[in-house]
Amino acid sequence: MINVNTVNNYKDMLSRQFEYLRISVTDRCNYRCSYCMPAEIFNKDYSYIKQNKILSYEEIIQISLILKKVGLKKIRITGGEPLLRKNIDKLIYKLKTEVGIEHVSMTTNGSLLTDEKLSLLKSSGLDSVTLSLDTLNSDKIIKINGTKKQFNLDKVLQGIEKYFGKVKTNTVVIKGINDNEILDIIIKMIEINSEVRFIEYMDVGESNNWDLEKVVPSKDILKSIKSRYSLSLIKTDKSSTAEKWSIENTNTSVGFISSITEPFCNGCNRARLSVDGKLYTCLFANEGYDLKTIIRNGASEKDVLNYFQNIWSKRSDRYSELRFINKSDLPKVEMSYIGG
Ligand code: SAM
Repeated sequence: MINVNTVNNYKDMLSRQFEYLRISVTDRCNYRCSYCMPAEIFNKDYSYIKQNKILSYEEIIQISLILKKVGLKKIRITGGEPLLRKNIDKLIYKLKTEVGIEHVSMTTNGSLLTDEKLSLLKSSGLDSVTLSLDTLNSDKIIKINGTKKQFNLDKVLQGIEKYFGKVKTNTVVIKGINDNEILDIIIKMIEINSEVRFIEYMDVGESNNWDLEKVVPSKDILKSIKSRYSLSLIKTDKSSTAEKWSIENTNTSVGFISSITEPFCNGCNRARLSVDGKLYTCLFANEGYDLKTIIRNGASEKDVLNYFQNIWSKRSDRYSELRFINKSDLPKVEMSYIGG
């Protein structure tokens, strides 16, 4: 049985301490990014999770309160597009005030980030916003992100800066699609003192027709940035997914998430909660643990703690490190469902 007083010694089989939960609050999105929710698959016939199976805010709070007892410190609200979920600010407010989560962040495509929304998110206690930004070219948005409806990027960037101080962006780099925009994105980010992260295109889910040939290794991106700027490495802790560099004489940093070429499983301190309340310990998992059913069946806090302890203490997954060695025939879950 778990002793909640020994949270700091609470590790998995590879000595990884649980600290971070990513929650997918909806599996729906108003974008159809080719690498995540391609339009051919996520069309009108696609079966999204039914309303009565989606975790309610009360259930998310209940789970978060319990997981806080085993080390939970940080939560990222994601999806799908998290701003499609009604009253998301109310969930954030409760996570901050009732649960006392140290850091609550959100990843969003930014399309619904009005000044009013940003103000509401800030006053609810949200600590930071990461904007997914794959291109600065409005024609390419249709090709990469599958949306014709465009928003005013500068206005959204200014809004994030106004309410959250620092703008953070994520760019998934895909060969032949947006790899020629890396320096333009850097220039833009220097202009607004932002943190930019380049993500290697990953083989998440089964829908995106992933191909190693389309991956641009982080070291190539770094090389092209170094050809123009002087960079110095920033020390990050073991659980950080990104290698980070500061760009000299600017207030900008650039990070690299290199799941394909430099996997970081050994520092992974995170679990994921799917839209329908399944717990996953790896982004590339085939199967999750049905926390929602346990909660809905009236399990006590102690039962849930034991259930979680049992999962975490036996955890040994390190998909990215074994990607090219161990191949599973089972389908991987989609990122929109499990939370990006
Ligand atoms: N809709 C929100 C958004 O666009 O930011 C949140 C969900 S999205 C799944 C979260 C992040 O996952 C985005 O930054 C997106 O670029 C990233 N992502 C999705 N599919 C990916 C893939 N195959 N490889 C790398 N990153 C991916």
